[in-house]
Amino acid sequence: MDIQTPDRLVRLAVDLVNTRTLEPEKLSTTDDLRAFLLEHGESEPIELAEDDLAEVRAVRERIRPVFHREPAEAARLLNELLAEYAVRPYLSDHDGSPWHLHVAEPDATWSRWMAATTALGLAGFAAGHGFGALGSCAAADCERVFANPAERRPRRFCTPTCASRTRVASYRARRSAAAAT
Ligand SMILES: [Zn+2]
Ligand SMILES: [Zn+2]
Repeated sequence: MDIQTPDRLVRLAVDLVNTRTLEPEKLSTTDDLRAFLLEHGESEPIELAEDDLAEVRAVRERIRPVFHREPAEAARLLNELLAEYAVRPYLSDHDGSPWHLHVAEPDATWSRWMAATTALGLAGFAAGHGFGALGSCAAADCERVFANPAERRPRRFCTPTCASRTRVASYRARRSAAAAT
């Protein structure tokens, strides 16, 4: 349970929030959670207790508003999570791994680890790129969030698919409005 690159933590936070948007719940079982952790660079053995799934889902709902709120409020939410879950960072080379930074307690549950690492990742990202680089999709039936470094042009959609769906819908709306007049 470690921190490798900052990008990895931002991806973890974004993907965690996107496990439930308007689409069906993707973290329904502890096996789903195990698969999610493996996909995000954690390695076996991943021991999950009964409560871990519900607690990780609760962390997800505390991270979600960071993508939607005004900067001062988003910063307050991240500071709250860091105060609650993060510990003084420390280096570790446990299990023969290269030296890396930990920010959660050594025996943290997965939910506490998730809260500490995603809050740290988003805080570092916001400090580097501004809260404007965190957002949610502008498409009508999508609530997926994204992290987009501010030096690129502002982004409104989670994917090109949502961008083109929205363009097609507004073209059709304009055309039918024109036909009606
Ligand atoms: Zn580690
Ligand atoms: Zn979208």
